[in-house]
Amino acid sequence: MKYNFHKNRFEEQTIFPYKIAIAGSDIDLTWQGLEEHCNQLQLIFKQLQIPIGHPVVIYGHKEAFFPVAMLACMHANIPYIPIDKIYPLERIKKIIESTGSQIIINCSNQTIDISIPVCINQDLQITTNQKPDYSNATYGNIADPLRYIMFTSGSTGEPKGVLISKSSLLTFVEWALQDFRFSEHDVFMNQAPFTFDVSLCDLLNAFMRGSTLVLTANEIVKNQYLFLQRIKHYQCSVWTSTPSFAFLFLRHPNFNSTYLSHLKSFLFMGEPLPNRTCVLLKKAFEGVTILNAYGPTEATIVTTLIEITDDIIQKYPLLPIGTPMPASQLLIEKNNEQDTEGEIIIVGNHVANGYFKDEELSHKKFISYKATKGFKTGDLGYYQDDLLFCIGRNDDQVKMNGFRIELNEISAQILKHINVDDAICVGLSRNNEVKKIIAFIILKQNEFAAESINEIKTSIEKSLPYYMMPGDFVPVDHFPVGTSHKVDKKVLIAQYLK
Ligand code: AMP
Repeated sequence: MKYNFHKNRFEEQTIFPYKIAIAGSDIDLTWQGLEEHCNQLQLIFKQLQIPIGHPVVIYGHKEAFFPVAMLACMHANIPYIPIDKIYPLERIKKIIESTGSQIIINCSNQTIDISIPVCINQDLQITTNQKPDYSNATYGNIADPLRYIMFTSGSTGEPKGVLISKSSLLTFVEWALQDFRFSEHDVFMNQAPFTFDVSLCDLLNAFMRGSTLVLTANEIVKNQYLFLQRIKHYQCSVWTSTPSFAFLFLRHPNFNSTYLSHLKSFLFMGEPLPNRTCVLLKKAFEGVTILNAYGPTEATIVTTLIEITDDIIQKYPLLPIGTPMPASQLLIEKNNEQDTEGEIIIVGNHVANGYFKDEELSHKKFISYKATKGFKTGDLGYYQDDLLFCIGRNDDQVKMNGFRIELNEISAQILKHINVDDAICVGLSRNNEVKKIIAFIILKQNEFAAESINEIKTSIEKSLPYYMMPGDFVPVDHFPVGTSHKVDKKVLIAQYLK
């Protein structure tokens, strides 16, 4: 069995209906079970009269029901908003409030302290607190309905929602079916939270082919021995993650092809892939295929792909991010004619419809190029040997441990504290990777600096996920300013390191 995302239906129902479709952190679900659960959710959606375009929140972590709910929403042309348990309650409430979502599907076995008209739990029980009112909260258009709204870190202090439509998702699906060399026999390891589209990549690849998706909860991931045991148990053949996630396993005695004999491919995305990681992986996993994929959430999962062969590892110390999918065009916008590098602009139908309720930012980042949607990535790149290379950012967005973070979102939260005059967050890098975020803070009153810093920590913890928390909070008297009259972050970091 498999799922056809174009036709929005399950196909080949009589072929391997008892094959595992989803190995969740709680239960395993066969393909037949997936279809049945999906159908049951459809009935509930109909009963609740959810209109096309009204977003439904899916809350949980790695339960089997999470992907069921995602698929059911796609099936019913209802956009979903994935929310992982790692998010603090305040952040979740803000997202629900801003979208006006009336329905939450709670895939976890815990109740959530959120006031929302309707809650559907994993046993398909419905709790109605009040009659849902969809009137002011339907988005997108019927001809090309929204598939999901994915909230990512926002530089203004609030998370921003990326609007992905059906046709954008299908552009990715078509490409993946054609060019990602996976098959129905593959078993996809899935560990990234559903709040990030790295995890959607496994899900789509598995469902479009009729393969198996193995979800692993954070509690298991943290125990490397148990995590690798789970991968071995389910005979995972495709590992998808950020490079930094895989890097953590490189020293583990079981991270090799002797123990994980079914693991044949590593698909990396979300951040730069270090050359050295590939060298070590190729040593540990004989004959393994390493794929490097690049692209922001705003262009539906990933846009470029390249297999990192031994020749490429030898030839390019900075690895290429490859070539774009056929339906996409990647332009380099240079400041001057003589420049070799510039901002990467992605053009294609897979580009998002913009940011949720943020016209100003959408206008700034989303463009129209020859009547096709385009996105200014903020990534700097260049072409060499017909391959694209990405060398960094032109703004304050960083990646730390694979997580996308707008440093200004953290500063904006710190600035809300009554005793803060100014705040700047800077990423501390080693070997071109951000290892730690330092918050430099000018306090209004210095007498109670330690107490203020503690209060700031406690207050921002309520709205920022753990991976955005600064590793250090440093009170300073002033910020050093460079010749361009901007705060000189290099000097701040140099002072910190002293
Ligand atoms: P996200 O929206 O979380 O997927 O993050 C997208 C950003 O991550 C991109 O704009 C790049 O800055 C970075 N990125 C993603 N994939 C790669 C890659 N393969 N190589 C270098 N940077 C990447």
